[in-house]
Amino acid sequence: MSGVYISYPFCRQKCSFCNFASDVASDPVKTRYGAALLEEIRAHEWQWSPETVYFGGGTPSLMPPELVAEIMRALPAKCLREATIECAPGTLNRSLLESWTVAGINRVSLGVQSFVAEELKTSGRRHSAEDVEREVDLLRASGIENINLDLIAGLPEQTAASWERSLDWIEHIRPPHVSVYLFEVDEESRLGREFLLGGSRYGAARMPSEDLAAQFYERAVERLEAVSYTRYEISNFARAGHESLHNLKYWKLEPYVGFGLDAHSYDGCERWQNPDSLIEYLSRAPQIRSRTDRGEEHFFVGLRMMSGIEPTQEEWTRFARPIERWTRAGLLERTGSRLRLTADAVLVSNEILAEFVA
Ligand code: SF4
Repeated sequence: MSGVYISYPFCRQKCSFCNFASDVASDPVKTRYGAALLEEIRAHEWQWSPETVYFGGGTPSLMPPELVAEIMRALPAKCLREATIECAPGTLNRSLLESWTVAGINRVSLGVQSFVAEELKTSGRRHSAEDVEREVDLLRASGIENINLDLIAGLPEQTAASWERSLDWIEHIRPPHVSVYLFEVDEESRLGREFLLGGSRYGAARMPSEDLAAQFYERAVERLEAVSYTRYEISNFARAGHESLHNLKYWKLEPYVGFGLDAHSYDGCERWQNPDSLIEYLSRAPQIRSRTDRGEEHFFVGLRMMSGIEPTQEEWTRFARPIERWTRAGLLERTGSRLRLTADAVLVSNEILAEFVA
């Protein structure tokens, strides 16, 4: 199993909570980027034929549809099982979806984040709950049934009651896949920076506490599981058979190659990364390469899956100390040859996983 990631780092606006390498750009810049992206893909020496493709961003739904089609044609995708494109709600229409399905796109991930008007407005998003409902209907009518909706717990203005409203919408729309993220307070987003400085712009003074956001996440787990979603990874929930094949590759340490700004690649031994500055990417600055420790990554990445991992004999010995520590604390559990996080461990998983990395 191997995958391809395509980065399209442009958006209509920069959302206050966003910590991705994405921005607003002029049309000529976007055109140059599209040409560089295609050139990079065409120059790649393929060792394998990808089974999954993922257009991420940024907002790849803003890509000219001809560019999506050209990229799909440029991939040696003879046995493609899943081709996902991330979308900002409010950017879809019938003819766009038609061109995507012709190009081979069969899965869409909508960055909804919230269904509540005040939360969306404060975060700089332009869509409404009704837009999402309408676009999901449009996707289904176009034959794209494999749909993910993203939610973020911990946004400004969010309350227990408003979070229930977002979860009500999920139950109403019933997408086969849902991702629930906790807002990450860091220097990389405008909202995170403002909060860390004690300011009030972007609604930073009206964010739920970390504990409350964690309760929102737990409530999402409870409600989603009650309506037949399985949490198969810390942030990802799916109905049977609708897990993201592409994202599973990251957690199972399967190879993938990334194209475009800040795109990462992994061949099973080595990781490499394209420049994260647009100027450097367009001027073809060299990639950054690093060797990996497969044992560490097996735990650090693989334990994110709720089914856990099957450590090798050598790994059981090498990581005996943290395994014993967290098992005693009731945060890891061993079942036969498998090791996995317990339900209590999910909200403190960063701390647990960090212990498997030198
Ligand atoms: S959250 Fe999505 S749409 Fe908003 S700026 Fe970030 S990448 Fe763009």
